[in-house]
Amino acid sequence: MALTRIGLAGLAVMGQNLALNIAEKGFPISVYNRTTSKVDETVQRAKLEGNLPLYGFHDPASFVNSIQKPRVVIMLVKAGAPVDQTIATLAAHLEQGDCIVDGGNEWYENTERREKAMEERGLLYLGMGVSGGEEGARHGPSMMPGGSLEAYQYIEDILLKVSAQVPDSGPCVTYIGKGGSGNFVKMVHNGIEYGDMQLIAEAYDVLKSVGKLTNGELQQVFAEWNKGELLSFLVEITADIFSIKDDQGEGYLVDKVLDKTGMKGTVDKAQLIEDVRKALYASKICSYAQGMNIIKAKSTEKGWGLNLGELARIWKGGCIIRASFLDRIKKAYDRNGELANLLIDPEFAQEIMDRQAAWRRVVCLAINNGVSTPGMSASLAYFDSYRRDRLPANLVQAQRDYFGAHTYERVDMPGSFHTEWYKIA
Ligand code: NAP
Repeated sequence: MALTRIGLAGLAVMGQNLALNIAEKGFPISVYNRTTSKVDETVQRAKLEGNLPLYGFHDPASFVNSIQKPRVVIMLVKAGAPVDQTIATLAAHLEQGDCIVDGGNEWYENTERREKAMEERGLLYLGMGVSGGEEGARHGPSMMPGGSLEAYQYIEDILLKVSAQVPDSGPCVTYIGKGGSGNFVKMVHNGIEYGDMQLIAEAYDVLKSVGKLTNGELQQVFAEWNKGELLSFLVEITADIFSIKDDQGEGYLVDKVLDKTGMKGTVDKAQLIEDVRKALYASKICSYAQGMNIIKAKSTEKGWGLNLGELARIWKGGCIIRASFLDRIKKAYDRNGELANLLIDPEFAQEIMDRQAAWRRVVCLAINNGVSTPGMSASLAYFDSYRRDRLPANLVQAQRDYFGAHTYERVDMPGSFHTEWYKIA
């Protein structure tokens, strides 16, 4: 057997599918897993899915030795201790200049610790977030590699072909930056993903509990929304969910999955649907603004120099948060690379201003009807805090100085001040 181009260790859901994807794109790949039955299973799948160039190994030494030098091994094992254990197993057989890529959801500081340790042994290291679950791994994920640029360049040709391809935007992969930046960006991406799902669930709750929309109406509403500014994978699958009948009983499956609520409410349905659509969109802008600013703050702290517009581009395909909206975010950062917050980009600012009345109506309506909308309410609170030129933190600071002499700064002169408040009072 000729040497393979790359290796992959860890053949659970993600590893198995990513290995098949890499082989399908024409890169011969060696695979290994601690439990060897998964190796045989993967080899069997590679045969069935078109005799793909994938070769299985039961022991780490022959696995590593089957890869061309400098060797690259992608690990897809459980985050934490299993990653350290897998590194120890592989590194015993790797040589100077070889590279390990952790494709799991790892805490970014663990990646930075390992990168340093590997550097001392002459090995290169990448921490690469991979988004898109099983389907993405098999047919094209969004990939967020961070760490050694040299290692990235060595496998760039593979990543460009294996990642999701979006017409007009290119492959959903880019070199993110130094250190643990790839894992950090993936972590925030996952936060945004669950924020999206929560906001959609709240929109559904208001429409169902207050507006009394049936599943058929909900299906139509979400399908309609998916044609406009909310066009996204998650809104698309939400519409689908409302059309699925329960195959084990009467009615729709979604009602068997979620609790039923029994709120009373009469509102103009069409107006409510329009308001909820606007509230969902405005909340989404706030959620992404916060995610991007978390990344921006960490990038500044660590000197990663991350390109936020490029991140929005690589999330356009492959991953769960893929949406036309991301193109707008990319354009906002193209307009101004130093944008302090998406909320002050002229286009987003205008959109949010146009929707804020509807957004406030929905949050009030939900509160009045006892429907909890923590995502939409918190997003509105974020917006309201951000647009104020002065927040009541002056009082908190005064209290702290009163009871703990923590000092305060003044709005009208520089310096640090302390007042013996209780003596004056
Ligand atoms: P997983 O369930 O997180 O992990 C299972 C894999 O880890 C198996 O290959 C298992 O080997 C290996 N493993 C566990 N403990 C080990 C140890 N002590 N030493 C060596 N190997 C060990 O698998 P996954 O769902 O495919 O996810 C892999 C990584 O991708 C994780 O970091 C996950 O968070 C991330 N991720 C997952 C998804 C998803 O949709 N599943 C999406 C994005 C990212 P054995 O077979 O020998 O037990």
